[in-house]
Amino acid sequence: NEFVREEFSKGALRCKTVEDVLTPLKDCFMLDASTVLDFSVMSTIMQSGYTRIPVYEEERSNIVDMLYLKDLALVDPEDCTPLSTIIRFYNHPLHFVFNDTKLDAVLEEFKRGKSHLAIVQKVNNEGEGDPFYEVMGLVTLEDVIEEIIKSEILDE
Ligand code: ADP
Repeated sequence: NEFVREEFSKGALRCKTVEDVLTPLKDCFMLDASTVLDFSVMSTIMQSGYTRIPVYEEERSNIVDMLYLKDLALVDPEDCTPLSTIIRFYNHPLHFVFNDTKLDAVLEEFKRGKSHLAIVQKVNNEGEGDPFYEVMGLVTLEDVIEEIIKSEILDE
């Protein structure tokens, strides 16, 4: 019944963490901040189909900004605009969450905030040196909703 189903999906959201549902960094479509928005780069972005694209400097684990597909609406590929010009203009905020954040908590954050995408990081203290934050991937509202739907289907 309705009540049992609701309790079940709440349970899944309470137990699972963002680490269980994230898209790993190696699978993320991202752009180097030094990229020039020429025809070929803009085509690749369009073909990726993603609405939000993390922008990194030097290495993929160093995400410094976010490009939204709609930011490109007024960009003419003929102008070969540097990506850095666009991201500086729109200056979208970045949202970070820790890998052990529960799905219900991140869902609340998504509901409250403007962005429905967060970058997942963990504290890496495996090596000899000082612990540091390591980016694991990204999680979106869609990933959380998928988990809710999955648990509802299991419940049928
Ligand atoms: P979009 O609006 O771009 O389609 P969604 O929020 O609907 O993105 O997420 C769909 C799936 O794609 C999720 O699993 C999410 O983790 C993943 N995703 C979102 N953005 C990217 C990206 N830039 N690169 C790789 N995967 C992404």
